[in-house]
Amino acid sequence: MTSSYDATIIGAGIVGLATAIKLGQAFPEWRIAIVEKEHQPGLHQTGHNSGVIHSGIYYRPGSLKAHLCVSGAGQLIRFCKNHGILHEICGKVVIATKAEEVPILHELYRRGVENGVTGLKIMEPPEVGMLEPHTRCFLGLHVPTTGIVDFGEVVRAYAALFQDRGGTLHVGYRLVAVNREDRGLRVETTQGSLFSKFLINCGGLYSDHVARMAGLDPPCQIIPFRGEYYRIRPERSHLVGNLIYPVPDPRFPFLGIHFTRMIDGKVEAGPNAVLALAREGYSRTTVALAELAEILRYRGFWQMAFRYWRAGWGEMVRSHSKRRFAEALQELLPEICEGDLLPGGAGVRAQAVGKDGRLVDDFVILQSEHMVHVLNAPSPAATSSLAIADHIVGILRTRIL
Ligand SMILES: Cc1cc2nc3c(=O)[nH]c(=O)nc-3n(C[C@H](O)[C@H](O)[C@H](O)COP(=O)(O)OP(=O)(O)OC[C@H]3O[C@@H](n4cnc5c(N)ncnc54)[C@H](O)[C@@H]3O)c2cc1C
Repeated sequence: MTSSYDATIIGAGIVGLATAIKLGQAFPEWRIAIVEKEHQPGLHQTGHNSGVIHSGIYYRPGSLKAHLCVSGAGQLIRFCKNHGILHEICGKVVIATKAEEVPILHELYRRGVENGVTGLKIMEPPEVGMLEPHTRCFLGLHVPTTGIVDFGEVVRAYAALFQDRGGTLHVGYRLVAVNREDRGLRVETTQGSLFSKFLINCGGLYSDHVARMAGLDPPCQIIPFRGEYYRIRPERSHLVGNLIYPVPDPRFPFLGIHFTRMIDGKVEAGPNAVLALAREGYSRTTVALAELAEILRYRGFWQMAFRYWRAGWGEMVRSHSKRRFAEALQELLPEICEGDLLPGGAGVRAQAVGKDGRLVDDFVILQSEHMVHVLNAPSPAATSSLAIADHIVGILRTRIL
């Protein structure tokens, strides 16, 4: 391992790789390394998501998510065009299926406009029916700027660009400790140690562990929420035109189970949001005892469980019952039935939960001496990756250097 770098990034997910590229652009003379525990980039959240380029309607105006999603989506689309990555700006509809959801739909429209999302339109059922003829709705919101892409492709292109420009990608290196030295940090990995002036923590599901290794007492802990998908039987996928979303429950940062046409033409339904018993627990039976104990020891988990036990229980039941999953989908698309759902994949969200039990809504990016820590980067962080990277470069420029 080359032993000395200006900046070392922990984690070769989409956020770590975007950061590496942007750091290289901002500081061309820097030697930059990425340390990734897996044998290739993008194997966790980045490789297990819905593949949606979000437009920015959901997020509180003024929040990091609002700003970085809108800017990141624009940059991502330009990157895809310049690098020949298949993508499509197909648009989506969010549909209110009950009268009480209508005010929330209007609030999404208002937020979207304030966040700078263009082309939004509130639609009556006949207009929604022209876009998605099989839906049932009370009122709809058309978001024409939403797109689809395979984030795995994006990450491969980011990694190639980073390496072509002279960056070093250490795969199969797990970070185990960070020690302070005179003018920087000693970064200890399972394959040896390196010296780095700066460290950027993009550890996703383990970002709080990485922060603790680096001596920070993070204000939140990652609680893993698995998102499970079904795939729609190919002969029934014509029921879905593009992307069909429900009105989200404003208490949670999750968007509710929806239909997504993927860039490869398949249609998926999901993801739900169930507590995972391991940070990389992609199936119901994967349990990591030490990680489960860590969840159960966390005061914020119990506060969250107490506050949201009813919603959590409902998600758990739906995770075990295909019939319940299908019933939720029928709210959007009455013709869909249990037999149309084939087993799909799953992803695990790194959702930060505060000590008070709050699900942290916004991205959290903190700095400490010689370090920047990305402590909460769930959806839409894949969409926002290049803008999150700009934000990190900005922190390094103005506050640390
Ligand atoms: C089910 C689901 C659906 C989603 N849908 C969308 C969507 O449609 N659109 C969207 O924009 N976003 C979506 N997201 C969110 C998006 O996928 C994530 O926000 C994004 O991928 C986060 O990227 P990351 O680089 O921070 O994390 P990750 O991709 O998880 O990468 C973190 C990396 O750090 C590495 N690492 C961790 N610990 C160590 C260590 N000790 N040493 C070395 N390496 C380490 C890991 O191996 C991993 O490769 C979705 C997420 C999920 C789970």
